[in-house]
Amino acid sequence: MSREPLLKFTELGIYCSAANVYLDPWKPVDKALITHGHADHSRWGNNKYITHLDNLPIIKHRLGEINASGVNYDETFNINGVTFSFHPAGHIPGSSQIRVEHKGEVWVFTGDYKTENDGISVPYEPIRCNTFITECTFGLPAFKWRDQKDVMHDINTWCSQNNKEGKTSVLFAYSLGKAQRLIKHLDTSQMKIYCHGAVFKMTEVLKELINFPEFTLITRETKKEELIGNIVVAPPSLMGHHG
Ligand SMILES: [Zn+2]
Repeated sequence: MSREPLLKFTELGIYCSAANVYLDPWKPVDKALITHGHADHSRWGNNKYITHLDNLPIIKHRLGEINASGVNYDETFNINGVTFSFHPAGHIPGSSQIRVEHKGEVWVFTGDYKTENDGISVPYEPIRCNTFITECTFGLPAFKWRDQKDVMHDINTWCSQNNKEGKTSVLFAYSLGKAQRLIKHLDTSQMKIYCHGAVFKMTEVLKELINFPEFTLITRETKKEELIGNIVVAPPSLMGHHG
């Protein structure tokens, strides 16, 4: 008789019954192992959160006062005889794959991951396993991504052209991950970076881990003239809003 799978999908999320823990649970549970800070992976209401150390300030910023502890990459810990460890997923800072080992069997849940080094996240590492549970939102061959350095070259060229023409460049990027990836690689030799509140706050949190060029919060007092020739980074939810 084959034994129960080490991880299985339940209505609360991916469940490890041997350890009685959930991975990125969808609904509140007692003990949650969290791959990364995006809202569809780290939800409010769990009694206890275990995640990578670099993800701690992110989820505390997003979820407020929670009972959470952090581990390093490759650091193993044991729950009810099941061995867990977190490994780099390369998706956003602090993002992890979760390795689960029990009675000689190894399962890996990737969470979100990418294989290109983005310059702000610890790069993805493949982990040997018997069973691999993978997210692949953009995994279809139809999606062909250009190298980050080529995309950044285009963005920096566009911003620099706008600067010469006395225009403000407005870039929309999700406030956790994409925004910091942009800010990290924007050419600030001629231009200043201004951030919308949500982007500013999250980048402030990540400043503890990553070196960024200088960035400034846009407030009600920020004069429009101040922005001319410079770069504004805002979340996509603001696209089309004025004022
Ligand atoms: Zn994500």
